[in-house]
Amino acid sequence: MKVESSMTTGLIFAPGLKHTQAGHPEHAGRATAVWDRLVAADVLKQMTVLPPRAATWDELGRVHVRQQIELVTQASLQGGGMIGADTYTTAETYQAAVLAAGSCCAAVDAVLNRQVDDAVAIVRPPGHHAGSQSVEGFCLFNNIAVAARHAQANHAIQRVAIIDFDVHHGNGTQEIFYTDKDVWFASMHIYGRQFYPGSGNIDEVGQRNGNGTTVNIPLPSGVGDDGYDDLMRCVIEPLLTDFRPQLILVSAGFDAHWRDPLANGNLTLNGYTRMINHLHTWAKELCDGRIVFIVEGGYDLDVLSLGVLNLCHTLVGNEASIFDPIGASPYPDTEIDSLLFKVQQTHLLV
Ligand SMILES: [Zn+2]
Repeated sequence: MKVESSMTTGLIFAPGLKHTQAGHPEHAGRATAVWDRLVAADVLKQMTVLPPRAATWDELGRVHVRQQIELVTQASLQGGGMIGADTYTTAETYQAAVLAAGSCCAAVDAVLNRQVDDAVAIVRPPGHHAGSQSVEGFCLFNNIAVAARHAQANHAIQRVAIIDFDVHHGNGTQEIFYTDKDVWFASMHIYGRQFYPGSGNIDEVGQRNGNGTTVNIPLPSGVGDDGYDDLMRCVIEPLLTDFRPQLILVSAGFDAHWRDPLANGNLTLNGYTRMINHLHTWAKELCDGRIVFIVEGGYDLDVLSLGVLNLCHTLVGNEASIFDPIGASPYPDTEIDSLLFKVQQTHLLV
């Protein structure tokens, strides 16, 4: 229960305005669309806006090899260009990327120092595809991984849960924590050889000390609101409860919405709100409400901005303001009963 006090929801904004490329789906207009929506809805007055800050090399170095940090630095010093097949840089990318990662650390600090109850980090470039030594999928540094390691290094936190509902597999996050028993990672994503990044099958469950702390839910296209809700309640909730997290971090991608141009998860904005409500509730039950939502993908600007607005309304308790002007999907949902059973068999019935 939210006590009537000075406690609020934190919001941190590191939009990476100069890390942008015309015609690329991951451009700066995504962040400004979100900001404009939050301002127009006047929700910021109910939130604590936190100042962004840059991550240090030591903070990045908890997750990434030095060569990766140097690669991004050099690319920016040379004025930018492509790193790999799909990830661009500009002269300002390094600065944007360290601000994105550092701001996620600042959001974690604000939550763990009890300056705020919970927080939303609207940061660019996104992070969940960046591995310990790989830049890919529009991601340079893994913001959520840097934030998780920061929580463990600077606060009395051992067990961190990361839930990734971006429509793409959080392959970088998985790789970084694959042998780690203290960071539990669950990802719900469309899976298939034709769909980026092509990893995240059900049998990828972690290794060595981390055996069982990676949970992959590989989805067909078109799952929709009820399927996602079933997975949240029947898989994520029992496993998360069992893990006993001290902090929950969420890779919040809004590209599983039916209108997203890169994928078809068939979710609606109301379906997103159901998932967010679950996570908010479980954070209150399991770890004193300590949860930070970090924005990842989402390439339809209305969906992304309304999705983040509804997220903010949910966390500050404006239930009556949550809305879905985009509405129901015109496509039928794909049934996932057998998949649900398989994931339960892998993780719950052993
Ligand atoms: Zn994505």
